[in-house]
Amino acid sequence: MEHAIKSVEYDRPQGLTCGIGQAWAKVPDAPSREEKHELKERIRALLIREKAVLVAHYYVDAELQELADETGGCVADSLEMARFGRDHSAQTLIVAGVRFMGETAKILSPEKRVLMPDLDATCSLDLGCPADEFSAFCDAHPDRTVVVYANTSAAVKARADWMVTSSIGLEIVAELHARGEKILWAPDRHLGGYIQKKTGADMLSWQGSCLVHDEFKGVELDLLRAEYPDAKILVHPESPEAVVALADVVGSTTQLIDAAVRLDAKRFIVATDLGILHKMRLAAPGKEFIEAPTAGNSATCKSCAHCPWMAMNGLANLVAVLERGHNEIFVDPAIAARARLPIDRMLDFAARHKKRVQASGDLGKDVSLFSNVGAA
Ligand code: SF4
Repeated sequence: MEHAIKSVEYDRPQGLTCGIGQAWAKVPDAPSREEKHELKERIRALLIREKAVLVAHYYVDAELQELADETGGCVADSLEMARFGRDHSAQTLIVAGVRFMGETAKILSPEKRVLMPDLDATCSLDLGCPADEFSAFCDAHPDRTVVVYANTSAAVKARADWMVTSSIGLEIVAELHARGEKILWAPDRHLGGYIQKKTGADMLSWQGSCLVHDEFKGVELDLLRAEYPDAKILVHPESPEAVVALADVVGSTTQLIDAAVRLDAKRFIVATDLGILHKMRLAAPGKEFIEAPTAGNSATCKSCAHCPWMAMNGLANLVAVLERGHNEIFVDPAIAARARLPIDRMLDFAARHKKRVQASGDLGKDVSLFSNVGAA
């Protein structure tokens, strides 16, 4: 089957001396209903034959999410994907997501085989933060603790003290700030700005952005809110400040799904990749979910609220990877060993947090742990 190729523009951070402001995505053509049925049957059988488990991100297509759920895999945010892959007994992990997720799985499970439907599925945050330029940025600020977002290459993580995901970045930076540490943050400028505002930490930020979330616009969102005054607004913190300012809840993908279930509202406006709506509808049946508005022509990659690289994951290339065992992720062992340190720090921090919540049993006392899940 021919794969459509589309070029994808993304904004390069200012000051970069190399790299490009344009990339491309190969988005598979949608199979027919009959083809889908047949491909799914083959994937179920191949997962058993290969003793493999499917780990999918919330932003990939609904069919892949369903398959992961049905076959004992997981559909999650990048923190949970990393934890799940590390702790699962399967020796082959199939990561349906983008490249940094496959690399993180390999770093945490070096003894396992990690395969991806398409190794060219990348991320504008990863592309916009080349390791050599980031390393020079770190060298120029040796007094700062380096905190990087999960959406970075293994080589960038290897230069960091901490890795964080959007579900736990705020708590980790708050703790570092309380210890008196100054932060060098990369690469997402919006998430960094949100965390800085919430914690008051001294943060010097790389200027990257997610090309999907960057397209949500505050003015249009405000108009939509006026149209649906009963709706609650759920926003991922990779969105611009004007959009975050209108949110009822700001959080990671998992936290936004949780809010859709937990809140009393019947209608929600959602500012994140539209792939998440599948899980939201399953988790909160009977509630209505409306995509937050993006600017420009909805036919372009930048403004359709769906990541063109996440869209590269399809049923046909998943079958191919299971049949042939190609598209394996390899990470240089020396880089992987160094990159593991900031990831393990985050996972240890997450485990300690959970214990503290369980030990207290009083969410009123532990409310700061959830300070990014609530009124923004
Ligand atoms: S949605 Fe944005 S942050 Fe997520 S993989 Fe795509 S470009 Fe990267």
